[in-house]
Amino acid sequence: MLYNTLGKTGLEVSRLGFGTMRLPTKGSNENIDETEASAMLAYGIENGINIIDTAYPYHSKELDGNGNSEKFVGKFLKENDLRDEILLQTKSPSWLMEKRTDFDYYLDIQLEKLQTDYIDIYLLHSLTVPDWTKVNDLGVLDFLDDCLSSGKVRHVGFSSHIEVDYLIEILDEYPKWEVALTQMNYLDEYYQSGVMGLNYLKEVNVGSMIMEPLRGGRLVNNIPQDVQQLWDMAEVKRTPVEWAFQYLWNRDDVDCVLSGMTSMEQVKQNIEIASREDIISDYDQEIIREVARSYRTRLGNNCTRCGYCMPCPHGVDIINCLTEYNIAHMMDDPKASAMQYFTLMDDDSRADSCVQCGECIPFCTQMLDIPEELVKVHEYFGSEFDHF
Ligand code: SF4
Ligand code: SF4
Repeated sequence: MLYNTLGKTGLEVSRLGFGTMRLPTKGSNENIDETEASAMLAYGIENGINIIDTAYPYHSKELDGNGNSEKFVGKFLKENDLRDEILLQTKSPSWLMEKRTDFDYYLDIQLEKLQTDYIDIYLLHSLTVPDWTKVNDLGVLDFLDDCLSSGKVRHVGFSSHIEVDYLIEILDEYPKWEVALTQMNYLDEYYQSGVMGLNYLKEVNVGSMIMEPLRGGRLVNNIPQDVQQLWDMAEVKRTPVEWAFQYLWNRDDVDCVLSGMTSMEQVKQNIEIASREDIISDYDQEIIREVARSYRTRLGNNCTRCGYCMPCPHGVDIINCLTEYNIAHMMDDPKASAMQYFTLMDDDSRADSCVQCGECIPFCTQMLDIPEELVKVHEYFGSEFDHF
């Protein structure tokens, strides 16, 4: 495993962090397969991963509910006597805060779930511009000051999908930020805070963590033929997963890449890649840019399947509507996607069930106009009779 210094925290972190939002499950999202997940975490730690990332809602029944990921991680660390060996990162559910005391209330619940009396890195989770305004007005910075002086939290930061101007505004507001978690992969250099955000984090020496390194799996699954042809032209042959990770680890403004791993196979594969120095040549960097250009021309929309917009109060399966539309574009095979769209999704969950109420829009981490995207989906797939 290779390690980086996490900005001004001074912590040496493995450049691959273990994300625990997609642990293996049995039957439902809240039911973690603890035997398999424990084996994965144990293997990861034995092979050099020293940071575990979790959050209040991961592996809950409802997306913003009280999830089981923190409980599982706490139990695993306790049973294996690993708490002090590992950097534990979790996140405050900013969207649930209504008054100043709520911050302490949720932190105490999290400490109990994690079976610890301190958190190494505590992030305000998925800050949107309205959430930041709200928590700032409620006194979140005073709360963070208290956490740091009491020792309940050792380093503070935030995760966000916002644009670079807002990222800088938040960073400039509080000199004690030490970590920021933003989205980056070779398709997203100029999306959300992108490379400009990473440059600024480096300038102010705030530790830079990355989410969505594989863009919801899009960069590694169903590789289009013309993309594969580009990869085949590279000086060094790499798998799609290697390209995605090594692109990030070749940047000097990326300290740690979080990967939400679902299987032991992924853990082993990612660790093997993270343990190997692989300098990408200028020629191969140009191949990456060509691949990004090729993908960009194909995307139907920028949905990453994060699920924050769900559930729709009118029953629309937003994620799968947008995904089938995207796959149809990327694979250039509308018929195959239409088959999935009409056979795997109920009448009531398809795009034409959207009543355009707009309630989902503020929750979209990718700032999509979801109802407008759903109109496109419906127009694209048409009625069932157009295809069968
Ligand atoms: S705009 Fe459409 S998808 Fe969004 S919440 Fe309303 S009905 Fe659901
Ligand atoms: S529409 Fe937006 S919030 Fe919903 S899954 Fe896609 S990216 Fe996430």
